[in-house]
Order: sequence, then structure tokens, then C-alpha cells
Amino acid sequence: MAKLLEGKPLAEKIKEGIKLEVAALKNKPVLASILVGDNPGALAYVKSQSKAAENLGIEYRLQNLPQDITEDALIEFVRKLNSDNSVNGIIIQMPLPPAIDYKKISQFISADKDIEGMHPANIGKILFGKAKLIPCTAASAMELITSTGIDLYGKEVVIVGHSEIVGKPLALLLLDKFATVTVAHIGTSKAGKLEEHVRRAEVLVVAVGKAGLIKGDWIKEGALVIDIGINRVNEKIVGDVEFEVAEKRASFITPVPGGVGPLTVTMLMRNLVAAAKSQQR
Ligand code: NAD
Repeated sequence: MAKLLEGKPLAEKIKEGIKLEVAALKNKPVLASILVGDNPGALAYVKSQSKAAENLGIEYRLQNLPQDITEDALIEFVRKLNSDNSVNGIIIQMPLPPAIDYKKISQFISADKDIEGMHPANIGKILFGKAKLIPCTAASAMELITSTGIDLYGKEVVIVGHSEIVGKPLALLLLDKFATVTVAHIGTSKAGKLEEHVRRAEVLVVAVGKAGLIKGDWIKEGALVIDIGINRVNEKIVGDVEFEVAEKRASFITPVPGGVGPLTVTMLMRNLVAAAKSQQR
């Protein structure tokens, strides 16, 4: 039976380190959070982020903008925050109104304040093994894997899902540890090859968003399984992996909810403090 890899205790441990770093900063770090309109999902993120920030001694500066703001006005607003020296990091809350393209707007956040780690310059630094601001979900998966003490050198790692926020940056982070990384995606499934890749994974990371995509009996005996997927099935939140069977075969497995999710906001705060540290130098 697998050991459960829960995010919360790990997050608490990491937060202790963040608190020490905050205390060592010259000024209280400031996170500017852009909320357009009042989408309930975005409001829920704001609530959990502001609570985490407060707890860590970080100022959470909420910038609530009207629902009908234009892309140009939003870009102008981001530019102002870029040049405001009192702001160390910027996040744009999702979802945005349909008229606003997140990918376009987010590229205007300056690289040194990009605490979601999505600026091309920050992604590029991952390629060179020099990243300070890492996409939060990929960073969370990495923390959970590392917390098991597993030596990744030469390990067969299979990542299912190749999005910019999870699969692609995670593949680079794992390559840096000399794992042998395979990235599977919709093309792999369409070619009928998903099962054969999953079956040989010593470390399996799944980030797709399809409940039950990974059958429990595909899991290699003793594998480490990180399930990032979030799916609502019959009013319950489940991951992408068939948990009940998988936990009998894996050595470690993340629960959904409670695995990767609780760590991501901590990773965001860690990025904010890293940004503040390099700006206040
Ligand atoms: P995305 O839609 O950007 O990417 C989905 C990926 O899954 C793509 O690479 C696609 O090719 C692949 N895919 C789709 N169908 C497939 C199939 N049948 N077989 C194999 N691969 C398939 O998604 P995303 O933003 O990376 O999110 C993925 C999941 O992770 C979602 O459920 C999302 O809610 C969840 N998520 C969780 C957290 C968290 O904090 N726990 C954070 C981010 C995303």
C-alpha cells in the first residue's frame, strides 16, 4: 500500500523557511494581485492567496479592476505596476473576462516580477538550470517528488500532459536531475501508446484533467505517482489516476484533493520572496 504524499505538511515546512527569508528582507515584500471583475473562482484564489501572504508577513495588494476593462487599459495597468518600485511581484487572477487574452496580457509582466514563472525569460532560465521563478504547479510536483528522498538519476519518469504550466517546465526540471524523461500527451493516446509508457514509469506525473484516464493496474509496482489532475465527478473532486487500485501498487501517491493543490500557493509566495530578494539586493 502506497504512502500518501500530502501537500499540506510539506507546505507548512516550506513556509517556515519562507518566513525566515521574509524576516531577512529590508522591506516587507509586496504582491500585487490583479482581479478583473468578481468571478467566484478568481475570488476564491484571492482569498487563499491573501491568507497565505498575511501568514508569511507578505503584503497582498489587491487591485480590483472593472469587468469591462479593455486589454489596452489592462496592459497600461500592468506597466504601471512594473515601474512601481514598491511592488515585488504581480499575478493576474484567472479566469479573466472572455474579451481578455491572458497569454497576451501576462507577457507584459516584467520578468523580474513574474511570480507565476511564465515569462519567456524565466522559462528560458529553466532550460539552463538557473531558474529562480518556476511555474508553481511544476514546482509543487518537484517538491513532492524530492520529499520522498528518491534519487532521480537515471530513473524512468513519464509525464502525461504537456502544457506550458505543468508538463513542459517539469520535464526540464527533471532532466536537470538526470532522470530519463518521457512526455506523453493527447498524441500518445491517439496513437494507442499511453498504456505502454505509463506501465514502465518509475515516477509518473499526470496533468491532463480526465478522471480515470490512467488505469490503476497500469501503475508499475513501487512507482511514485503524482496526480495533478482536478476533475469533478458526482460532486466529488478526483484526479486523473484510478486511485483505489493505483495506491495498492505505488510506493507513494498524491491524494486528490490534498496532494499538489495545497502546495501551489506556497510556491507562489516562495517565488514572490525570491523576486523581492533579487530586487532588494
Ligand atoms: P491543459 O489543458 O493545458 O493540458 C492538458 C494536457 O493533457 C495536454 O498536454 C494534452 O495533450 C493532454 N491530454 C489531453 N487528453 C489526453 C489524453 N486522452 N491522453 C493523454 N494526454 C491527454 O491542462 P493543464 O492546465 O496543464 O491542467 C491539467 C490538469 O491539471 C487539469 O485537471 C487542471 O485542473 C489540473 N491542474 C491542477 C493544479 C493544482 O494546483 N493541483 C494546477 C494546475 C492544473
